[in-house]
This record gives sequence, structure tokens and C-alpha cells, in this order.
Amino acid sequence: MSAPAIQRTVEEFRDACVAARAAGARLGFVPTMGALHAGHLRLVEVARRHADRVAVSIFVNPTQFGPNEDFARYPRNLERDVELLASAGADLVFAPADVTEVYPPGEQTRVTVAKLGDHLCGPFRPQHFQGVATVVAKLFAIAGPCTAVFGRKDYQQLKIIERMATDLLFPVKVVGEPTVRDADGLALSSRNAYLSADERVRALEIPRALAAAATSFENGERRAQALIVPVRTALTRAGLRLDYADVADPDQLSPFGSDGLVGERALIAVAGFSGTTRLIDNLVLGEDVAPRLAKVS
Ligand code: AMP
Repeated sequence: MSAPAIQRTVEEFRDACVAARAAGARLGFVPTMGALHAGHLRLVEVARRHADRVAVSIFVNPTQFGPNEDFARYPRNLERDVELLASAGADLVFAPADVTEVYPPGEQTRVTVAKLGDHLCGPFRPQHFQGVATVVAKLFAIAGPCTAVFGRKDYQQLKIIERMATDLLFPVKVVGEPTVRDADGLALSSRNAYLSADERVRALEIPRALAAAATSFENGERRAQALIVPVRTALTRAGLRLDYADVADPDQLSPFGSDGLVGERALIAVAGFSGTTRLIDNLVLGEDVAPRLAKVS
């Protein structure tokens, strides 16, 4: 497979996308922060199925990180990422040479999605979803894709992008793809690289707890508390420090109250720290396939 063309400026990337569209190609787009893994590459594959040409952005977006978060140490390895994208069949890679490409000097504009950001990760990461919606709006504006593919691993992000694309009238189809997991069930994440062996073992309690909730749901449990309390207990017992573990409406993202009953679909979403690494995971009960937990030696 030939190496994808790399664009380092907004102008180059816009020109390449305009040229692709002028040649009659449907453009697929996958925004990422790099440090690519099989989850990202799955999104590229899916974009391929929807489009004739696939563009991938690699940009560690400063506005979605809080002041005490891992922006500075977020893993960056453009050369390796481009090799992976070549074998995955990406055609264009936008890797801005400088933050000022995406945030021009004097910039003062942000995109806010009002309510979907109020729940789950929102209160723990103020400004995060505003940063995400802003950068994705900018990237959509540059690339003009027909289809953009996102992971359900970041379920709240996906819902916010869907809302933003609808509200701002972007002519793009937003596709959400199931979470890709390691053989032991842990959701792939660029941040897994931070985990020590012991922290990783503790992190495995997350897919285990989600799978147990799925079994309980399949067995007919619909009481919100009966679904979520065992998840909280298992994760805390494993030594994870939780930001939250909630059962929520899968469309509005608002958590169920203490005597709530869930419907035929319910989102279980978790954010917690194993050591100093913040991990998120989720499952839409009644919709997603539960994590498989094959033991690896
Ligand atoms: P990131 O580079 O972490 O910003 O992620 C870029 C895109 O990849 C987002 O749409 C994520 O939801 C998606 N993604 C990250 N991890 C996974 C995974 N394990 N499975 C599927 N998609 C993922």
C-alpha cells in the first residue's frame, strides 16, 4: 500500500480535500490525536467502506485538555502513525505543523453543545467537550467530508459531535463504531501505554464489571441502582478511583435517579483512575455486544 500524503498546513489539507472532491471522490474522515492503535485503524477501514478517499487528522488538541491533564506527555509518534495509516489504506494525513494552524493568532471562537456535556465526563473535565466540538467543527470545515467516523469508546463525545453536526448544518454523515478491545477485554486507548502491569490488571475490572452488568440486564434487571451499584462496588474494590460510574439515558446522557427503571436501552458509563491514568469505558445495554474477557497468559 502506498504511503499517504502528509499535509502540515490547513491550506495544503484544504487543497488536497478540494482536489479529491473535484475529482468526484467521496471523502471519508477520521479525526485522531495520534498514538494510533487497532481501534483507530478500524475507523479508517470503516471510512474506506463509506468513501473513495480517506483523510485522517493527527492533532493533539490543546483546548480539550484541562490544566492538570496529560497534554504535555500525551504520546506522539508521527512516523509510526503514518506507517500504520499506510497499511490501513488512508490517502491523506493532516498533521498540523503548529497549533497556530488550527488556532490562528487572536482566535476567540468556541463551539458549545449545551446539555449533552452536562453529565458523565462533563463536570469532571470542564471545557473538554467544548474543545472537542470546536476542533471537530474546524476539521469538518477544512476537509468537507461526506462521512466522518468516530468510536463509541468515547460515547459522550460521539453524541456531542452528532448533535453539533446536525445543529451547525454540516453536510456530513457521522458514523459511530463499536469499541475495539484487547483480547483480555480492556478497551484500546492511547493512554493504556501509561499503565504499569499492576495498573493494567486493575483496569481489567472495568470490562469485567460492564460484562456483569450486561448479564444482569439480559437476565431482566431494569432497576437502575441494581445495575450500577455492583459496577461501582467492583471497581472500587479493585482499587480504581472513580470519577463516576453511571447508568444513563443513551440519547440524552442524563443519569437515572435512585428509584429509576431503565428502558430497552441503557448506557452504563465509567470513568476512573488506575494509578494516575484516567480510563473511560461504556456499554449501551440492549444495543452493544458485551466485552469478551478471554484470559491471556
Ligand atoms: P483519540 O485519538 O483518542 O482522540 O481517538 C480518535 C478516535 O478514535 C475517536 O473517535 C475515538 O472514539 C476512537 N477510538 C479510540 N479508542 C477506540 C477504541 N478502542 N475502539 C474504537 N474507537 C476508538
